[in-house]
Order: sequence, then structure tokens, then C-alpha cells
Amino acid sequence: MNLIPLPAFSDNYIWLLQHEGRAMVVDPGDAAPVSKWLKENKHSLDCILVTHHHADHTGGVATLKSEWHCEVYGPANEQLPFVYHPLRQGQLVSWESLSFQVMEVPGHTAGHIAYWAQPSDQDPLLFCGDTLFSGGCGRLFEGSPQQMLQSLDHLAALPGKTRVCCAHEYTLSNLKFAMAVEPHNDALQSYKLHCEQQRSQNKPTLPSLLSTELAINPFLRSRHVSVMAAVKGFAPSTSNQEADIFANLRLWKNEFR
Ligand code: ZN
Ligand code: FE
Repeated sequence: MNLIPLPAFSDNYIWLLQHEGRAMVVDPGDAAPVSKWLKENKHSLDCILVTHHHADHTGGVATLKSEWHCEVYGPANEQLPFVYHPLRQGQLVSWESLSFQVMEVPGHTAGHIAYWAQPSDQDPLLFCGDTLFSGGCGRLFEGSPQQMLQSLDHLAALPGKTRVCCAHEYTLSNLKFAMAVEPHNDALQSYKLHCEQQRSQNKPTLPSLLSTELAINPFLRSRHVSVMAAVKGFAPSTSNQEADIFANLRLWKNEFR
């Protein structure tokens, strides 16, 4: 089984899994790159997983569905503009030998879900849409800081070897902010060098590893002393409450250039 990031729009990835002529995709915002890959590689499309309702994650679903008559899965707590199997926390989706566990991770949108699976002979896979990015997290369009913090806590509890398949190539700009928050984090400095190298060769920085994210991502580290101190430097009125620290960390990122 192979994991392939198909670039779409300016900075999206549509994640594709393939096995013996069959494929599934996650968040096809555009049908064209998926159709092109399927044609060139002579694969058929079985299944589409959707994490949330934004158009850059759903725009290609209707076209692919009518072309391939594939199964479509998505969040029960959101309305998507096509017929799909609605999923809630703890439900399972099977494709080939994989069984994806559904996790509700509200924050970026109110009904956002993520999909986690443990292949028998490979490291685990997480499709987290716009909830967790490498070095960052999604903007809070529909959820509260408390909700996003809890969602990220659930993702952080997955096995460290989990391959984190984010829906956007935002890594370098996220790491610029992360360096402003934790300038003395050695793991962050070496990861940033690695990612700069990847991008200079036009390669994706993803998937990331959850263990790496725990070491470098300020949004998974908001309870660390260094991150708390930096947030208080940005917003001196920040209390010691974790949701308040997280909220101001997110506000800082929103205005960071
Ligand atoms: Zn989104
Ligand atoms: Fe997006």
C-alpha cells in the first residue's frame, strides 16, 4: 500500500492510498489531479473520505462520485453538498485491509473529523484535514480555543509513529512562527532546516511524524513553560488557564507576519 500526496490549488494536498489497482482519496477539493493520477496509473477509485465542509476539501467529490460510483464518507455534524455516509466519534470505515477510526476534532469547523488507521505492516496513518498542520493548527472559524485544544489533545495521544497527513503545505510559515515562540528549541531548529531542504527541492514536508510534532509544534506544546512564557510576552494579560494561553497563542499566530 502506497501513500501519495497529490498537490492541488496553491498549497493543498489530496492524500491518495493505492493498493493493487484500487485507490481511496481524502478531501478531494479538485477532481482533476485525482482523475489524472487514476488514469495515468490505471487505478479505480473505491472510496472518498472528507474531514470537513470547506470547498477546498469537498469541491471535487461530486464529479469523482459520478465518475466512479465510489463510497463517500464525511462528518455527521456538518452538511456536505452531496449524498454521503455520516460518521461520528468512534465509528469505523474500512477500505482494503485498513480500518479507519473516526475522531471528532471540532475547532477549525464545528463538525470536523479525523481518520486514524493502523496498517498491519506499516506505521499508523492520520488524516487530520485542517485541524493539525506541521508546526501549526487550523484557524478557529467555528470552534472555541477550548474545543481546539481538546481536539489537539486527542490527536496528541495517538502513537508517536503516526504519520500525520495534513491537508495543506503550510509548514515553513508555521515554523517561522514556531521559532518566534520557542527560539531555543533545538528539535525545532533542525526540523526547520530539514523542511527548508525539502521545499527547496520542491518536495512535500508531509507526512510529518506525531513524535516530531510533539517536539516542535507550539500548538501541541502550549502547556510547556517556554511556550507559556512567550505567550505572556505577547499578551501580558494572559492568565494561567490553559484555554486562555492557547487562545492567545492562536491570536498571536493570526497576526504574525
Ligand atoms: Zn478548512
Ligand atoms: Fe483547507
